[in-house]
Amino acid sequence: MRHPIVMTSALLLAAAGCAGGMGGIGSPDQAAKAGGGGNPFKDVRFFLNPEYTASVEATAANHPDEAAIIRKVATYPTGVWLSDIKAVSNLQGWLDEAKKQQDASGVPTMTVIVVYNLPNRDCAAESSAGELKVEENGEARYRTDFIDPITAQFKAHAKQPIAVILEPDSLGNMATNMSLPKCQQAKSVYRNGIVYAIKSFNLPNVSVYLDAAHSGWLGWDDNRAKIAKVFKTVLNEAGGPQMIRGFAINTSNYTHLSNRDGAALEPSNPCPNELTYAKLLGGMLAMYGFKDHAFIIDTSRNGKGGIRTKWGNWCNVHGAGLGERPRADPAPGIDAYYWVKPPGESDGSSDPKGPRFDEMCAGSDAAKGAPQAGKWFESYFMDLVHNASPPIF
Ligand code: BGC
Repeated sequence: MRHPIVMTSALLLAAAGCAGGMGGIGSPDQAAKAGGGGNPFKDVRFFLNPEYTASVEATAANHPDEAAIIRKVATYPTGVWLSDIKAVSNLQGWLDEAKKQQDASGVPTMTVIVVYNLPNRDCAAESSAGELKVEENGEARYRTDFIDPITAQFKAHAKQPIAVILEPDSLGNMATNMSLPKCQQAKSVYRNGIVYAIKSFNLPNVSVYLDAAHSGWLGWDDNRAKIAKVFKTVLNEAGGPQMIRGFAINTSNYTHLSNRDGAALEPSNPCPNELTYAKLLGGMLAMYGFKDHAFIIDTSRNGKGGIRTKWGNWCNVHGAGLGERPRADPAPGIDAYYWVKPPGESDGSSDPKGPRFDEMCAGSDAAKGAPQAGKWFESYFMDLVHNASPPIF
């Protein structure tokens, strides 16, 4: 994922736990919606995915000298990605396990699920191209084979809180990459698919955060206005802005929360970092009717600044470190920092001869020896741990 081609005013830019926890026991039946609802990340624990723990454990076994620090990473929660239809068959197991963790702790236990399988997915890039295609009945299959069974599982787990991050990159591509045929072809399909998902997930235990890319893509004034218009159109069709809790930013990206890296890389962008982006995008969205919406920010890999030669580089960026630990209410208007991209999973293969190769993944800022998107990349995980900021211990 993460390969927007961004038309800004002046340039064409190739861009691309156990935290939380503690505190009182809120009712999972009252998952917060926008429009005055509370922060659903508050007063909950977070689901720890045993499959993620197993990857970390295998790495710890390979690095006995650093096993303690490595294992510590697995005490923080990570996003559960539904990136194809097959993955949906695992959803029941993940949610059952989250329920077990909830019952054992006596505290509502939230699962953060990334719903990521639109037809013509990743329409401006190669590495995360998906299984569904517009010309192969993708729109109908997205509804019946993907969203419907997910909704059924959400209903079957009505007593536990769930946050959905809906379709990373998709509407960002609609805002800025419509000159690309694969994106153009997907225009109404992305919109219809997202509307259908929002309506389906309108359940008491589910809070939806629509993906809003990141500052290095949509930070410019004109791009923020474009995405706000797209969001407005989509939410009008879905039943109104209150159908979602908020927006997810920096998903799988590397942009720092607060430093000024962006100003050095793109001086014309008024959002040099993600907290500024949240603020300015929030201001723009308020003008389009999104008044009580909050953000969640992926801090899985944005701890270190100064690691990119181009802001648009998005694939296994060399020198990255784990960022802020997942937690609720870290800053005004921010529901949570969260490790949405499981740290250690690859963004895409660096092998030019393999399938789904994207040049970004063999670029000068990209770590070498990378496997396919989503696969465990052990040496990269170790780099993230070593470069963690704040440090892991
Ligand atoms: C990949 C998915 C993977 C996710 C999390 C995405 O870039 O396309 O297959 O599940 O990252 O690692």
